Formats: sequence, C-alpha cells, structure tokens
Amino acid sequence: MTNKITQEAILTALSKVQEPELHQDLVTLNMIRNLEIAGDKVSFTVMLTTPACPLRGQIEQESRQAVMAIAGVKTVQVKLDSDVPNDGRMRGLVNLPIRNAIAVGSGKGGVGKSTVSVNVAVALAQSGARVGLLDADIYGPNVPTMMGVEKLPPPNGKKLVPAKTYGLKMISMGLLVKPGQPLIWRGPMLNSAIRQFLGDVEWGELDYLIVDLPPGTGDAALSLAQALPLSGAVIVTLPQLVSLEDASRGLAMFRTLEVPILGVVENMSYLDLPDGTRMDIFGSGGGEQLAQASETHFLGKIPIDQNVRIGGDSGKPIVVSHPESPVAKALAEISQKIAARVSVEAMGSQNELPINIVE
Ligand code: ADP
Repeated sequence: MTNKITQEAILTALSKVQEPELHQDLVTLNMIRNLEIAGDKVSFTVMLTTPACPLRGQIEQESRQAVMAIAGVKTVQVKLDSDVPNDGRMRGLVNLPIRNAIAVGSGKGGVGKSTVSVNVAVALAQSGARVGLLDADIYGPNVPTMMGVEKLPPPNGKKLVPAKTYGLKMISMGLLVKPGQPLIWRGPMLNSAIRQFLGDVEWGELDYLIVDLPPGTGDAALSLAQALPLSGAVIVTLPQLVSLEDASRGLAMFRTLEVPILGVVENMSYLDLPDGTRMDIFGSGGGEQLAQASETHFLGKIPIDQNVRIGGDSGKPIVVSHPESPVAKALAEISQKIAARVSVEAMGSQNELPINIVE
C-alpha cells in the first residue's frame, strides 16, 4: 500500500530548497504556486523574481529532486514563471507602472556605457521581461543609432510614444530637442521637468527601465540621477587606472544620492587574437578591484570585439547580431546578474555578498 502524498509533505521538501540569490527557501519566499497532486504525479510552478534569473536551471533541478525524494512520488512537473518585484520608487514619485529603474553610469565618456545599456536592455527583453530604455545621455545620445531608430512614432495626443525595437520600448532625450536648441538640465525646475517627461511617455507596464545616464559626475549626470527614482546603478569602467579613478567618483555620486550600487562592469577587458593569445590592451583586473574596494559586486568582463562597434554603428546590438560571440554571452550574463541584484534590492534583503556573484 502506498502513502498518500500530501501538500504538506511537498511544501516541507520545498522549504529545504534555497533561492541562491535571496538566501531564503522557496516556501518562505512564497514562490510555490499551482501545486497539484494527482496520484503519484506532482506539479507546481516556481514563481521567480525575474525571467532573467541566472540560476533558473539550478532552482528547477533542486526543487524537482526535493519532491522526487518523497516516498510515493513518481513524476514531478516543475514550471517556471516570474513576477518581478516592484521597489515602489517609481510608483511613489511619478505614479508610473515601472517596477524598477536601473541607471547605467560611467566616470567618463567612451567607456561603453551606451553599449552596455543597449545590450543589457535587449538581453533582458530577450529573456521575456518588459523593458524600457531611456537614453538620457544628453551629451552623446547614441542609443537611437545603436538601436537603428531614426525618429519616434507620432505622439498619441499629449503622450510621447516610444519606439518599439528589439522587443523593448525606447525613447531618447536627444531625439526630442531640435538641433542647436540648448538643453537646460539644472536648476530647481529639473526634478519636476524630468518626472513630467517620464510621465508623458506611454511606457505601459515595465519590469525594468534601463536609463543611459550622461557620463561623469557633472551637473547633468548628478541632476538626472537625483531626479529619477532609481532602483540601482551599474557602473561601467575600463580596466585601466585612470578610468577606475573616474568610475570610483561616479560610484561615490550614486552612494551620496543613496542609489544602491548594483555592481561594476569592466568593458574592453581584453582582445582575443586569432593565434589564441589574449592581449590586455587597457590593463587587467581593474574592474574587479574597484568592486572589491567599493564593497560592491563585480558583474563581469566584456572583451573587445569589432562587431560591437559595427553593430553599434549599424543599429544592430551584438546580442542580436552575434548572440553566440563571447561579448554577447558576457553581456547576457551581466544582464542576468543585474536582474538578480535588482531582485535582492527590491526584496529588501540585507544579505552579505553572495559568493556566486563575484567571479
Ligand atoms: P559611452 O556610452 O561610454 O560613451 P559607447 O557605448 O558609445 O561609450 O562606446 C564607445 C565606442 O566604443 C563605440 O563606438 C562602441 O561601439 C565601442 N565599443 C564599446 N564597447 C566595445 C567593445 N567591448 N569592443 C569594441 N568596441 C566597443
């Protein structure tokens, strides 16, 4: 005679499975949904905090194994779904259904900030997330070119309509000003102006809004970072010392504004040559050292590849044009780590640095 499988037994088994980023078990985190028991068959859904979860395979496998170990269970069907947590900042300040706004900043221009913004946004959209991309780099609004967008669709009444491209919604402040017209991004009007601008865009529901900020810590970057209700910031740097010093100032700016630092990305880390050797053109390891010294996470290294520039110039991000290249894989992995950090921040977890984030 076989034991009847109970819901309680299954939840007890699943309460031993940890969510590796959030450091709590799946039951405590209320991630188990639609639990069904039919004879010796069990099925349930694990509701992840992001469709870009870097450890979804591990979570699926561990939860399946945990339930399979219960006496009498013959088959286990695990479905994965996601519901991105909302840190509430956007809703509180601008009343928009944007769950998380992530700034991408850098200490100076030309380090690949826009490249990272564009490819991370597209990679998150590819994972199934609802993504917006706001090009707020008023000094070098390159995002439209990188995304192959020449102009925005006609407005819908008073609302600006973002361009829909590569599965996301994009708007660039650079596309909104007439050539030669100066942009005044300081002074007491800025906070309400930027919030009104955000509110005037037909974003719809978004899981992530990626914001490409102006480089550096000057007026424009500072004012925008202050005015936008940001969930967190990612800092892009080159591995070389001078770039790191600038990046560290950028990082300090976000800390002063109490914007959580999600981590550091090192771009142009190395160049793989056809003979199999590797050249560290801008030095090596600096991004990791900066992350450590600043007690934040190192999110990954991006090699140099001319297809990044070619894709940028021709409006086809490398995660789309060469998805199997080491650069595209690094960018996709970085997007997953960013999503995981956002979940941790949004869930209000005060955990220590998890080992699996630091490479
Ligand atoms: P930023 O936004 O920091 O000013 P961009 O993203 O515009 O920097 O990048 C500057 C230039 O460097 C662009 O032409 C871009 O295509 C190129 N670039 C960025 N990252 C890489 C990379 N990993 N490999 C090759 N070229 C890159």
